[in-house]
Formats: sequence, structure tokens, C-alpha cells
Amino acid sequence: MLNAGAEQLSYRLRERLSSAEPAMLDLTKRLIAIPSENPPGNHYEECVRTLLAELDRLGFDDVRCEGGCVLASAGTGPRTLYFSGHYDVVPAQSRDQFHPRVEGGNLFGRGSSDMKSGLAAMIHAAAAARDEGLLKTGRVGIVLVPDEETAGPRGSRDLDRRGLLGRDGIGMLTPEPTGGVIWNANRGAISLRATMRGKPAHVGRQFEGVNAFERAVPAMARLLDIKKEVELRETRHNITPAAARKSILMLGGRAEAGTNFNVTPDFCSFTIDRRINPEEHLEEEKKRLYEALEGFEIETMQEEAAAATPAGDPLGIVLSQHVASVTGREPTFEICPGLLETRFYAAHGIPAFAYGPGLLTVSHGPNEFVPIRNIVQCAEIYALTAAWMLGE
Ligand SMILES: [Zn+2]
Repeated sequence: MLNAGAEQLSYRLRERLSSAEPAMLDLTKRLIAIPSENPPGNHYEECVRTLLAELDRLGFDDVRCEGGCVLASAGTGPRTLYFSGHYDVVPAQSRDQFHPRVEGGNLFGRGSSDMKSGLAAMIHAAAAARDEGLLKTGRVGIVLVPDEETAGPRGSRDLDRRGLLGRDGIGMLTPEPTGGVIWNANRGAISLRATMRGKPAHVGRQFEGVNAFERAVPAMARLLDIKKEVELRETRHNITPAAARKSILMLGGRAEAGTNFNVTPDFCSFTIDRRINPEEHLEEEKKRLYEALEGFEIETMQEEAAAATPAGDPLGIVLSQHVASVTGREPTFEICPGLLETRFYAAHGIPAFAYGPGLLTVSHGPNEFVPIRNIVQCAEIYALTAAWMLGE
């Protein structure tokens, strides 16, 4: 596209999305007011109804609900650029967080940053790109899922199982609160609870009992040895500070044993949270943990693969150019410190990136907010990216 044409296009989208700002803000507020806390997964139906109504109002095609997921599309042709986000939020610290409020240029409330503002931005971005006639060689596929915060079964995983995830995908974007950077990779997770069984007996007759705690200690020592070794491994992906490059094995996020100090403990359980870098192998790392935990009952709390899309992928380049042109700041590519739903798409070979209006620093916290300006800018970035990927 010629520079003059590109500038004119940016201008038209900016105009259109500026006038959509009240609608984006209104949708974000209405979504914040629905306490879709996960766990346990409250009020999902209300979110679904609100999102379906907004998509219908904006004239999306194929607006429908599959399980708990809301799907829609804009544009024509099979090539699909997915805009995917989650409508569940982490539990609030106070009920006030479900009363959205604007203060200065910021919108406060649970989910403002992670990621209800992002949903509004991407929905309006797709509608704007379509209305400007920019989706000529493909579609934007809108995918709005629950259960992201618990890596739960009703969201992207369900779509994947049903063969509905990433069909004809040429790329995927998700508006996680990246705070100005682009996430092109994420760590995987193996989170376990290990329980050793024993037999209770009074301390004075401990020879009649079996001390589950003492039986568990050698395994803890083995795990500490593994920790020492794996935490020497560093990812090649970009993340700050440098200490965050290390692979992770954290012990004892939860731990309990026995019933009292003077009774041999009949059980001892503790958690192991292993976060693997994209360069490590899930199966291999899992096997090591299981070997160290021989004799324990093991409950898997989560098991998720790491994923990475090269920053130099064409979608990454287009996205980063538009982040720079809209915000005036060249974004860096970083690895997300947590799980990211890009992994479901990357597993199908679809390039997937996270970039959103929110701030990671306030997400999940008691003062969660999003700068309103970022919502409009993010919508512009998404619309321009779609235009570049799906235009003539
Ligand atoms: Zn999120």
C-alpha cells in the first residue's frame, strides 16, 4: 500500500473508532458490571447474552454460541484472522470492583484491564474494518471464551476439542493486558499436588504410626536438587528483568500435614508449580517430577504446553508496525510470564500474539483500571492489522 493511501486509511479508521469510543466504553462498563468471576465461573450466561446482543447490533455474520463460547465473523472468504479473548475475570477483592467508574482518563473495575476493554476494542475494530470495506480477502473471526483464568474446560479447550478452533486461521490476536509490549511466547505449566499417606499414632507410641511428613521429606530434597538444575536454564525469549529468564520450579505454594504436633501425621501434601520455558519439553519435565514423587498420590491441577511464535512472523511485523504508528512507541516482543491462550493456536501452526489495552501491573489487583485512551488505540491497531492482513 502506498504511504498516502496508508495514511488516509489510518485517518479514516481513527475517525470511525473515535466516534465508537462511547460505545466501546459502554460495552466495557456493562461487561465489568457482570461479576463473571472464575473460579468458580459465575454469570457466564449474562456475559454471553451481552456479547451476542452487541455483535448482532453491529451486524456481524454467523453470530452464535457454541457451548459457553461466543463466535461471530466479519468479512468474506475463508482466510480467517482470529480476534480471541476471554470474558471471565479473576475473583474481585471487593464488590465495588463490579461498579465500573471513570476517574481522570481511566476506567476502574474488575476486568477493565484483563480483558473486558480488550473485548470491546477488538469487536469494534473488526466492525470498523468491515465498514470501511477493508476485509476483502478474508474474515475476522471473533472468539469470546470463558474459563481462561483457570485454564478450564469450557473455553478454548472445548472449541479445540470440537474442531472449531483456528479453522482456516492465518493468525490470532488476543488483547491480554500486555502494557505496551507484544507477547509472542508463553511458558507452560505443570502444577501438581503430591500427597504422602501415613498412619496416625500418639507421639508417645509413634512406633505404631507411619509419619507421612518424614516419608515426604526425601522427595522434597530430590525436588530441590531438580530446582537447582532447572533454574540454571534460561529462555532465549525476551523478558525482564534478567532473573525472569530462568525456568521455574516452586515448591510448597500450599502445604499441610497431620492434625496436631503430638500425633504422627497421617498425610502430608504439598504443591509443586513447574513453569517451563518454550525451549523445554512438557513430557520430559513431567516425567522427572513424577520420578521424584514416587510413592505419592499425585493430583494434576494444570498441565499446559509452552508456545512461541517467532517475532519475525509477518503478522508480528504488521502488528508491531501498527503499534508503533498508533502509539508512537516501538513495541518489544516478550515472553508472557504466565499462560496464554495463543498456545491453542500456535499448536495448530497458526501465528499468535497478545497485545491489549490493559496493564499487567494492575490486572488481578484491587485497583484494576485501564487508560481509556488505550482502548481506542488498541482498536485502531487491531483494525489496521486486519486491514493489512485481509485487504487487497
Ligand atoms: Zn487475561
